[in-house]
Formats: sequence, structure tokens, C-alpha cells
Amino acid sequence: MQLTPTPRAATLTDLTAAAPACTRRQVLRHAAALLAWPAAGHSALTTVDDHLFGSPVRLLLPPAVSRGVREQVLAGLTQRHRRWNAWKPGDVSALNGALREGRVARTTPAVAALLRGAARLERLSLGHFNAGIGALVGAWGFHADRLVHGAAPAASQLQPLLQARPSLVELELRGLDVRGHNPQLQLDFGAYAKGVALDWALDTLQQQGVTSALIDLGGNLAAMGQPGERPWQVGIRDPWGDGVLTGLLTQGREAVVTSGSYERWRVAGGERVTHILDPLTGRPAPGLVSLTVVHADAGLADAAATALLVAGPARWRALAAHMRCDTVLAVHADGRLEPTAAMAARLVPMR
Ligand code: ADP
Ligand code: MG
Repeated sequence: MQLTPTPRAATLTDLTAAAPACTRRQVLRHAAALLAWPAAGHSALTTVDDHLFGSPVRLLLPPAVSRGVREQVLAGLTQRHRRWNAWKPGDVSALNGALREGRVARTTPAVAALLRGAARLERLSLGHFNAGIGALVGAWGFHADRLVHGAAPAASQLQPLLQARPSLVELELRGLDVRGHNPQLQLDFGAYAKGVALDWALDTLQQQGVTSALIDLGGNLAAMGQPGERPWQVGIRDPWGDGVLTGLLTQGREAVVTSGSYERWRVAGGERVTHILDPLTGRPAPGLVSLTVVHADAGLADAAATALLVAGPARWRALAAHMRCDTVLAVHADGRLEPTAAMAARLVPMR
């Protein structure tokens, strides 16, 4: 795998952003003509482990889908959740150990595919998504099930991690053998693994002849087909409350992925900081409250939602255009919703 690193700040400066934003009410009014109704006739299964990839899992499948197929999908999701964790024993943490020590390590085909996909998306996102910043995520205290409030990491702790500029692009991957040249590069697929797992789950269901399904990994969902005469209707969560901001109708097979700075946070040095970090500054991404991407490729949607949240209010549109994500909704700190034109056409009031 030989990819050329792209210094992102310089590249993004020239791209233009600034399109008019509209209020929550305007979005709902624009979209009112597209009203549709939620699914009927599908059985809901809430399941297994409350926190697969840190979120509750929900599968909505037609009642005719066999128990065996449901279990296969759940087992596959559970396995990926366990093996791909950045800080608990598994395939990714084993590889992190080898990278720290400068050893060549043989990984699994699934992790090799993650490495290739994440390197491609790092380049595509101009470095805003970077699955090599695990050490930084750990330094900010996010490699834990229970987040503890406390001090922010000292500049002297962050500086070497920033200066090392870890990048998956610099990893050598020959077949399943991985060699890193940067001991500060630590893998963390937290911003990408759910999307990849969703793609796998829908592929598996399709191979079993299932044509309609919705899988929800808490803020990251993917759907295919439709549950009856009408499409799936999904809600985009209100960052300030329990309800939803707006609904959206899915089309064919696609993912709807939201990254929210409100999702996971802790107080560090008296400030509330999000788990989404800017790889260039080493600091939590300021600005946007949430960012939703709709895309046929769930892995890309997951990485893009993170990258665009990092790009922030002034630059997310330019980066979205660069990443060819045309259906995007940004939620600003002052409550404004800013959809792209393609997204505005998809939004519906939630029923
Ligand atoms: P969520 O997991 O809430 O859906 P994301 O998809 O944005 O949100 O993933 C956030 C997780 O990804 C963080 O907890 C961290 O492990 C990792 N991460 C944080 N910032 C970045 C980044 N800029 N690029 C890649 N991974 C990141
Ligand atoms: Mg993500």
C-alpha cells in the first residue's frame, strides 16, 4: 500500500464554503411534500449486548427472516465489536502492540481490509479522518468504557503525538503482514468500524436473500429495500433533547450516519470536550454539534461524518464536495440546521 500523504490544511484553504443556512423550521417546510410513513410488518429485535461499538443494536427485519440469519448477523457484529476495539484485547490492540515495538505483525484479512479502507479515506478526507491517532484519543481519556472527568492532557504529552504526524498512509502492508515506521501510530477505528460492520451486515443479509432491512448501531444506521409500500423513515436525533430534529426517507441501500460532538464527552480542564479530535491540532473538534452523511457506502459515510465534523462550520461543505458526499446535514451550535440541497430534498417531518 503506497499512498502519498496530503498536507490537508494547505489544500483546504483554497476551497470555498459558505452557503446559506436555514432554520430548523425552514428545513421542515421545504421537505413537507415528501411526507411518508414508518414501517409496518417488520419485527423489531433489540438485542444481545447493550453496547456493541458503544451503542445499543437494533435489527429490523421482515418476520420471515429465519432466526439463524438474525443470529449470524448479530454474531458477526459482536465479533467485529470485540476484535476491533482499540484498547481491549483483540486483533487491533494486538497490532497496536506490534506497531509500538516496531515489529512486523501478521493481521487478519478483516483488519487488513480496514487498514486499506481507512488509509484511502484518510487521503480522501485530507487527513481530517485519521485512524492512526489512537494515542491522541487515549491521551484525551477516551479509551475507556466509563469516562472520567479531570485534567486536560498537558501540552508536553500532546506535542510528541502531534509532531509524529501518524498516518495510515505510511504503513507497509504486504498481504497480511503489517509494518509501521512510526511508534506513535496507534490504530483506532472508532470512527469507521461501525460503518464497515454495517456494510458487512447488509451484504450478509443480501447473500441470504433478504431484500429489506434496517440496522441501527446508535446514530449509525444502514437500510435496504423498504418495509412495505413506503421507504424506511429514520430520525436524526435532536442533540439538545430526547426527540428527533427531522426525519429522512431512505432510498434503496444506503447508510445514514451521524457524528455528534454531544455523543461522548468528558470534562477536561474545566471544559466539556468531545471524543472527536482534530488530528492536526490534537484538540477536540470545536464548532459543529452534529453532522449527518447519507451515502450508499456505510464505511465511507462513517469516516466522512467524522471528517466533516472536524472540518467545522466554515469548511465542511468544501470537504464534503471533495469527498463527493452530496447528502449532508450540519447542525450548528446555535441550533441552525444547514443541509446541502440534496439533503434538504430528502428531509421529512418525523411522524
Ligand atoms: P461515534 O463513534 O460517536 O459514532 P465517530 O464515528 O465520529 O463517532 O467516531 C469517534 C471515535 O473515533 C472517537 O471515539 C475516537 O475513537 C475516534 N476518532 C476521534 N477523532 C477522530 C478522527 N479525527 N479521525 C479518526 N478517528 C477519530
Ligand atoms: Mg465516524
